[in-house]
Amino acid sequence: MEGSSGEYAVPPAAEAASRRQERALKAIAASPGIAIGQAVLFSPSGAQLEKSREPASEWERYCAAVDVLRSEWEQARVVAAAEAPGILPIVDSYLRVLTDPVLQEQVQHAIAAGASAEGAVQQVLEPVIGQLRRSRDLLLQERGMELEQFLQRFLAALRYRRTDYRRMSGAVVVASALTPSEIVLLHRSGACGLVTAVGGIASHTTILARSLQLPAVIGLREALSAIAEGDPLVVDGYSGVVIVNPTPLTRRRYERHRDSVEWRRRVLRRFSQLPAQTTDGRCFRLMANITSAQDVDEALLVGAEGIGLVRTEVLLFQLGRFPTEEEQFQWYRELAERFYPQPVTFRLFDVGGEKNPDGTEPNPALGLRGVRFLLAHPELLRGQLRAILRAARTRNVRILVPMVNTGAELQQVRDMLGAVARELEVLGETPPASLPLGAMIETPAAALSADALARVADFFSIGTNDLTQYTLAVDRSHGRLAEFFDPFHPAVWHLMVRAVEAARRRSIPVGVCGELVAHAGATELLVGLGVEELSTLPAAIVPLKHRIRRLSFQQAQQRLRVFLREGVLTT
Ligand code: PEP
Ligand code: MG
Repeated sequence: MEGSSGEYAVPPAAEAASRRQERALKAIAASPGIAIGQAVLFSPSGAQLEKSREPASEWERYCAAVDVLRSEWEQARVVAAAEAPGILPIVDSYLRVLTDPVLQEQVQHAIAAGASAEGAVQQVLEPVIGQLRRSRDLLLQERGMELEQFLQRFLAALRYRRTDYRRMSGAVVVASALTPSEIVLLHRSGACGLVTAVGGIASHTTILARSLQLPAVIGLREALSAIAEGDPLVVDGYSGVVIVNPTPLTRRRYERHRDSVEWRRRVLRRFSQLPAQTTDGRCFRLMANITSAQDVDEALLVGAEGIGLVRTEVLLFQLGRFPTEEEQFQWYRELAERFYPQPVTFRLFDVGGEKNPDGTEPNPALGLRGVRFLLAHPELLRGQLRAILRAARTRNVRILVPMVNTGAELQQVRDMLGAVARELEVLGETPPASLPLGAMIETPAAALSADALARVADFFSIGTNDLTQYTLAVDRSHGRLAEFFDPFHPAVWHLMVRAVEAARRRSIPVGVCGELVAHAGATELLVGLGVEELSTLPAAIVPLKHRIRRLSFQQAQQRLRVFLREGVLTT
């Protein structure tokens, strides 16, 4: 077989043909969006040790490389300041490493002892990189990978290699890894998407790509071998799939998807970057309630600042049985990673009540529901806590306990959480030392004893759906009682104020996550309550922000006071 290297080798023509076929490669969805373009392979250096010359000239080369990089990073800084000020601290932290006097001193010593500039930088940085990469902590491992990338960039600069960013316009950049300054400058040059071989979900690559709204798939190990320069690519930053050589049909399908997303993004881009701030400067964190898979993409698109409520029991309703620990772990990890570094709040299974899986309880709304159900089924609770703890490697995870009435209930969950974390440690896992544990305030008992709950809880989340149901004794899902189900009843608001004041006294954050948050008529009263977080269905986030930005916090407080005193809403 001509040109073959072994018995089973594919003939070159056939190999070339198979390379031209559509192939889908799956890795990690790091930044949502669809990018379609030709691949540009981006590799900053092949790090070879240069032979050492005179120490003085090696030191000069080192200083010249620092200058090249400093000017590149400062350029990136200007772009970042204009387009995504949120990422400035990341760019600055790299600039600090570059000009760190301790690093410079160590490099100088190594050069004086006979090393080349390249050898000196490697001698100094490699032990630190190795230490970080061997760490059991995910975030430290990520920092190790980034420092490695920094080293590669430094070695390239020592060979006076400046990157030609002009060829990146409209391209999908395929790289081993990328430094923050490279990402900023690639974005500036019009690159439409990123694919990297390394990098984790907690890496700066991910955070930057998200901030700059550059679709990205990361952790595709075979990126540089499976993709060739000029290959047509589709990057699906929602599912983590890269399609090489898409057929015309696939391409058209993704173009339609991209165009509709881009149209909405253009409309939303400016607005989703603005804070939810009142005219007199009070800020609110607007988060998403997640009840279905579609909610996740929508939440990312509208710029939700995290998830205030994941209704984990939806898994149970989808599957028709309780999900296994592994099924839960997969879903929780995906959510935690996709929203990193924003917080993701997993509410423990809220079964019972109108969400009764088997419908056998005579009076389900007052039955074995929420935390009562969980404490009666400790194996189920333990499995869920294990899945959440394992998924919480990114440290942006919170746990919310439904239907709490007493501090003792919350304490039992906390004890079990501690025990499960210890079990995982024995098994060699590294669960976070602690996760914030919050109480849902959704019964009058919880609101009235909020001071006691605040001693055990790390945060509160007020669930107005159930708080209304239980305060007014009106079944929330009874069609004929809809007119009596009134979340604007002053009693509901007196209870909410009580919970907020208790949270204030213990300095714990408090949010509201019931359907009321989406109600236009409630916004001013909710602003007046002065909670930190508002969580609602993703589609309601943009209109909510719009309303908040036109309100005055002081006037809203005044309006709430009048409402509580008079018992009626004045217009
Ligand atoms: C609530 O009760 O307000 C709430 C957010 O939880 P759920 O609607 O899932 O009961
Ligand atoms: Mg509820």
